[in-house]
Amino acid sequence: MRTNGLLIAIDGTAGTGKSTVGKAVAARFGYGFLSTGEMYRALAYTVFAKKINPEDHDGVLAAARAMRFTFARQEDASLKMFVDGEYLGPKLHLEEVGNVASRVSTNGEARRVLTEKMREVGQDGGIVMEGRDIGTVVFPDADKKFYLDASAEERANRRFKQLKEAGENPNYDEILRLIQERDHRDKNRATAPLKPAEDAVIIDTSSLNLQQVIDAVLEKLPQHAS
Ligand code: C5P
Repeated sequence: MRTNGLLIAIDGTAGTGKSTVGKAVAARFGYGFLSTGEMYRALAYTVFAKKINPEDHDGVLAAARAMRFTFARQEDASLKMFVDGEYLGPKLHLEEVGNVASRVSTNGEARRVLTEKMREVGQDGGIVMEGRDIGTVVFPDADKKFYLDASAEERANRRFKQLKEAGENPNYDEILRLIQERDHRDKNRATAPLKPAEDAVIIDTSSLNLQQVIDAVLEKLPQHAS
């Protein structure tokens, strides 16, 4: 075991509940929780704010190198992220930011920069890290790896309901299109494409509720991991 406990990797497609599940699992063991997509989203946001073209390789790389990430552990186990001292918050969760994130994250060199920053945060363990390539690239030696998936239609349904409950007027077909586009880009990029690690526990969440997914993950972990 690492100094602070296990390093648990949760990868998978967007909209499978990785963050909610990861947070619950982290809280169960008193671990920290980091959603690494936040870092790609922050890069996307910075690129957008600085009017850099997401396809501009050197511009995106320079932006990634210049970003200073710091984290503060919250009561719900998550690590609140600050970029150059600023909390970017809900702005990072706009649909468009997620989409630009999947574009800038095809930049292999920028990925290497962010991967190094993730390793600094996770190397001592006692953490659940959620993303696309945690178990394959960032920490191939993670103590336990999970891969969550669900059909694109089911994930679009979930997102549709979420937005509706938030008082918005979502368009199902548009949501489904964006999910499929993002999956395609994440799975087909040259560097660190989204795929399950060979030793990952694969969980299809299509017909499971969040509690059932949390239980399925906890079942594969030791009772006492701290
Ligand atoms: O998980 P989230 O939707 O916040 O991630 C946003 C985007 O960041 C993903 O679609 C993916 O392209 C990218 N990402 C990645 N590697 C990670 C985490 C996220 O490429 N470890």
